[in-house]
Amino acid sequence: METIHAQFETSLDVPELHQDIYEAQELIRPKTFEDYPGQEKVCDNLKVYTQAAKLRGKMLDHCLFHGPPGLGKTTLAGIVANTMGCQFKVTSGPVIERTADLVGILANIDPNTVLFIDEIHRLPSNVEEILYSAMEDQRLDVLVGQGHATRTVKFDLPSFCLIGATTRAGSISAPLRDRFGIQEHLDYYSASALCKIITRTARLLDFPIEVSAAEVLSQRCRGTPRIANQLLRRVLDFALVAGKSFVDVFVVEDALNRLGVDTEGLTRMDRDFLTIMRDRYEGGPVGLEAIAAALNEERSTLEEVYEPYLVHRGFVLRTARGRTLSPLGYSHLARVCP
Ligand code: ADP
Repeated sequence: METIHAQFETSLDVPELHQDIYEAQELIRPKTFEDYPGQEKVCDNLKVYTQAAKLRGKMLDHCLFHGPPGLGKTTLAGIVANTMGCQFKVTSGPVIERTADLVGILANIDPNTVLFIDEIHRLPSNVEEILYSAMEDQRLDVLVGQGHATRTVKFDLPSFCLIGATTRAGSISAPLRDRFGIQEHLDYYSASALCKIITRTARLLDFPIEVSAAEVLSQRCRGTPRIANQLLRRVLDFALVAGKSFVDVFVVEDALNRLGVDTEGLTRMDRDFLTIMRDRYEGGPVGLEAIAAALNEERSTLEEVYEPYLVHRGFVLRTARGRTLSPLGYSHLARVCP
């Protein structure tokens, strides 16, 4: 039976070639609320809940964080664990395939652990059911034996806090969702919050960036810290090779143009999404399935990664009959893909 420790060791066992990238990721990941710009309402609430739990001398209630990928759900869970002074264990829905996997994880957690399950909506339903009593009664109910000899064995668990993260809150069953006492939605970041994130990352990577350059980058990273940091690293490559000792607007503009990131932060995939709607479906309404087939992409990837930002920015409208291209979407395409 695989334990959470075994999974951790696997995740830390980074091949040498990727060690640098891994270390840089960990270096830039904020560890405290003070280092985590944006999501102010969510952070304010979590600060209160963690402080109240500490005042009571109790573990924090179970939390569910939902929102698009790369917005900081894992990071926030780590900050909560850090603030509570707890151990932080990380696993994810797709690696927990059998009930035995989850039983192994829960049976091996130490007292006062924050257990983070990423993509919790991907837990199989029979595995999910194990969580019900674990979350509610701090108890594991495990079926042992077969046929007439089947019986339930109960184990008490140490106090722990489960933090689940999902990009698809709607896919979580009601019984599981109801067991999370704290539920927070993370939304796309403002340019000013992203500007702080970019400046902080550049400082930690020891490569200064001009405020105006950080501002341009912050407007072209889809409101997402993960993309902001990824684009910044490419921008730093271009700056370094160009022999610059700091990043200015020209380097940012040049790098983003070469990377195919347009003035609204859309990538080639986003533009293909919009172009198919315009050129093949007269602006819609069109089903996501048809767009996915035309793009040769998984429907779920479009639904979780690309579409939410296009909808957020108002380029695509979701209607009961399907997706339609908005006037804003048409005018953006007229500029970048006439
Ligand atoms: P998610 O779990 O929502 O997919 P992560 O927590 O893995 O996102 O964050 C993705 C990247 O963005 C990480 O490298 C993290 O350091 C960075 N990041 C996310 N949110 C913030 C924030 N508010 N401030 C600074 N960096 C952030």
